[in-house]
Order: sequence, then structure tokens, then C-alpha cells
Amino acid sequence: MATPLVAGNWKMNTTPREAPALAASMRDGLAAISGVTKVICPPFVSLGAVAIALDRTDVEIGAQDGHAEESGAYTGEVSMSMLSSLCQFVIVGHSERRSLFSETDADVAAKTLSAIAHGLRPIVCVGEALDVRDAGNALEYVSDQLKASLEGVTDPAGLVVGYEPVWAIGTGRSARPDVAGEMAESLRETLASLFGDEPASDIPILYGGSVTSENIGPFIDRPHIDGALVGGASLKPDEFVGIVELTASIRA
Ligand code: PEP
Repeated sequence: MATPLVAGNWKMNTTPREAPALAASMRDGLAAISGVTKVICPPFVSLGAVAIALDRTDVEIGAQDGHAEESGAYTGEVSMSMLSSLCQFVIVGHSERRSLFSETDADVAAKTLSAIAHGLRPIVCVGEALDVRDAGNALEYVSDQLKASLEGVTDPAGLVVGYEPVWAIGTGRSARPDVAGEMAESLRETLASLFGDEPASDIPILYGGSVTSENIGPFIDRPHIDGALVGGASLKPDEFVGIVELTASIRA
């Protein structure tokens, strides 16, 4: 069974001065919770400072993206090999990267492979837009998206999957827990078809999309949802700590 995991995606928020202060304000609350892998994903420029602020705790650090190439003429980009000395996780294929920066499934697969090659745990994000959901094709669409985003991956050790319906991200309109649970079950089957039943059962599947400490409980209650990828609420220390606490108590 997968170890529960809660990751906070700070997106393009917090200055290099604010980020370690925000991390420090969550430090004791997060450090006191066991049984859940806790990950904070600040902006690139604050990865080092946040790691220092959380030093000597079991809170892990993640980047929000990374480039698939090792090095070279990619102005403005940061490679997985550079990230590997700063953090343990990296989000790939977030819907904002897919929609605002035109990332394809093939791009996401290349990033996932590069992350794994450099010892980073990729949090591979998938999710359908509202028109796909309304057309009744969400399960098949997201399963295909996951397969394409994992093209070439042979060993899923360390892999994390984030199911984030696009219409639920940052909208205050979270998915119904049974809807997210149905998708998580389908993704588990997809992972089992790729890697086998046992390896698939160890892969944490996260729900993401307007998660708060008020609504997280019924998601974690679903058998195939192992945690959450949290955007807005991860910038509020009490909220984020509350989400991790509830996850730990439900999965204990
Ligand atoms: C996200 O950015 O991954 C996310 C789920 O955002 P929010 O929690 O704000 O909907």
C-alpha cells in the first residue's frame, strides 16, 4: 500500500525573503505529524532557502518543474540534474504547464524520465478539462494521458501520480470525492497494466483541485486516493498543516 503523501505547490508565489519565513511558520506543525510524506514545492529561487528553513525535519522539498535536457542552450531553464542537489521531488505536467506553456505528454514523459534518472521523485500530473468531463470521456482520456506521460518508464519506484481535474484547480470547486475516487481507481488499474499489481499499489495517487482542511477528509477516505496536491491552501500554514494532520489521522 502506498505511503500517504501531501505536497504543497506554492506556484509563482512568495519572494525569496517570504518563502523561508512561510516554511518556518509550518515547520513545527509539519514535523510533529508522522505517517505522511510531506513535500513543499516553492519557486526555484527559494528551493535552497526553504530547505534550510526545514533542515533537520522530515519535510521534503520539491521543484515545480524541470527541463528534460541535462544542460545547454535553454535560456531560463533548470535541469533535473541541477535540481537533484536541491530537492527530492519535482512536479511534472501540471495543467498550468500544459495549458500556459504548451507542454505535451511527450514533454512530460521526457521530464519524468530525466527526473527518475537523476534520483528525483516525479509527481506526474494528469487531469481532464471540463469539456472532456461533460462529454463523458474523462476516465479514458486521463488514463491515456497518464500512459503517454509515462512513456518509457520501466521502473515506477518513487513515482507519484497527481489527478487534478483542470476545472477544479484554483476555482474553489473541488471534484466530488466519489468522482475523484473513481478516477483514482481507474488510474490504479492503468498503473497496474503498465507495471504490475504490486508496484502499482505502492504508487501514491494524489487528488488535487481546491483542497482545503474542510474538504480533504472524504477524499482521503477513498481507497485509491493516497493524499493531496495542494495549491492555494498550501500558502496558509494552518490550512496546510491541517490537511496533513487529517490525512495522517484518516490513514493511520
Ligand atoms: C494545484 O495547483 O496543483 C492546485 C491543486 O491548486 P488549488 O489547490 O489552488 O486548486
